[in-house]
Amino acid sequence: MSFLNRSVQTIFLWELLSGLSLTFRYMFRPKVTLNYPYEKGPLSPRFRGEHALRRYPNGEERCIACKLCEAVCPAQAITIEAEPRDDGSRRTTRYDIDMVKCIYCGLCQEACPVDAIVEGPNFEFATETREELLYDKDKLLANGDRWETELAQRISADAPYR
Ligand code: SF4
Ligand code: SF4
Repeated sequence: MSFLNRSVQTIFLWELLSGLSLTFRYMFRPKVTLNYPYEKGPLSPRFRGEHALRRYPNGEERCIACKLCEAVCPAQAITIEAEPRDDGSRRTTRYDIDMVKCIYCGLCQEACPVDAIVEGPNFEFATETREELLYDKDKLLANGDRWETELAQRISADAPYR
């Protein structure tokens, strides 16, 4: 670039004007950013987030303590203990998931014959200590109660493809 050209560009603030024109062009385009956490992007019905144990509409827990999820878990993150109830039904007395070990593969959900253990849409469960990520049965059932509407919608949206 010649000395004359550079001088003219400097005098007329060419770089500044070209930068400002770019700014003005983007100012009136649709925004691609989200105001997280007040706005959130779409999530697939197959998104694998925080785990939950679901109940039937009558409040009875779905899990029948078959231990398929525990057997299939590649990270050995699930620990189950079970005993028969007085009425002869089999239910878990302990259902723990070590969320630190979990690799969110979704195999537990795939293995479950009664849609009891599921991975829900919640991805906002960061904690300050490791202990808080050792989930027990109460915590998992509470997650199921809290997210049941969304969980049922996700399962029904995915059902035609299974
Ligand atoms: S998502 Fe995968 S790693 Fe995590 S508990 Fe289920 S089977 Fe185990
Ligand atoms: S969550 Fe499902 S797969 Fe796991 S023990 Fe209960 S019924 Fe069986």
